Amino acid sequence: MNRSDSENPAPEPSCGSTPLEPACGSTPLESERPRIRLHISQPLARDGVVMLERDAANYLFNVMRLGIGAQVALFNSTDGEWRAIVLKAGKRAGELRLLEPLRPASPPPDLWLLFAPLKKARMDFVIEKAVELGVRQIHPVLTRYTQSERLRLDRMQAQAVEAAEQCGMVYVPRIVEPVALAKLLADWEEARRLYFCDERGGAPLLSACAKPAPAAILIGPEGGFSTEEAQALYEHPACAPVSLGPRILRAETAVVAALTLWQASAGDWRGAS
Ligand code: SAM
Repeated sequence: MNRSDSENPAPEPSCGSTPLEPACGSTPLESERPRIRLHISQPLARDGVVMLERDAANYLFNVMRLGIGAQVALFNSTDGEWRAIVLKAGKRAGELRLLEPLRPASPPPDLWLLFAPLKKARMDFVIEKAVELGVRQIHPVLTRYTQSERLRLDRMQAQAVEAAEQCGMVYVPRIVEPVALAKLLADWEEARRLYFCDERGGAPLLSACAKPAPAAILIGPEGGFSTEEAQALYEHPACAPVSLGPRILRAETAVVAALTLWQASAGDWRGAS
């Protein structure tokens, strides 16, 4: 259950509700790390006290029905993940004490996703899947045929937080301010390879990115790139046109396919158990 399920509170717990008792059905190993995780922007350190705001308190105490003495994992991209215990549980606020570090912050491989913003539901999908598959940054890129309403970066960042909470990573990818494609290319640092996914052809992505190195994957809008944009991409020294196979994929499918191929070939899926 994640924060978006706040309409459907979890059932009342019938066991595992005291501070050190394992949750129902959990093995000793599972009980070592709290299953409920919450991203907290403020610094985390031993014996620190964290004051919860309304949304977080609602999630822990109303949706997840935690009470005083329950343990949760709090994390952020700098201080890592910490075990914390609930000291005060209210409807609109709460207080937790940090007990011990559980895991250090661990950024995914140095991969950025660049994509032309899509309509709402597809955009939500892209953010969630990009976080799960493992990227460090997400860059909305404005192109000639970009079709989207006003971008809400705060909403996109909140979705990234929720996806990170849910998938167990100790890092939240940053959503960067939208930038026009021309400016992005003008400012691009050549050390970072820019894989331009082009449905008109290119080397297969799987073989093009065989070595771990800073990289970015660029996916175009539903209408594709204009001829001028494609030409600028082809001429850019950091840019490598790559193919995702013989069929034209929807933009969000292309995001998932490209990140999967990159992770399997050059990322942290290599040799992952
Ligand atoms: N407008 C294009 C058309 O109708 O021919 C299709 C654009 S496609 C829906 C959206 C984006 O997904 C493309 O700009 C490209 O970045 C990526 N994409 C889709 N299929 C691809 C493929 N087979 N190989 C590489 N990239 C692909």
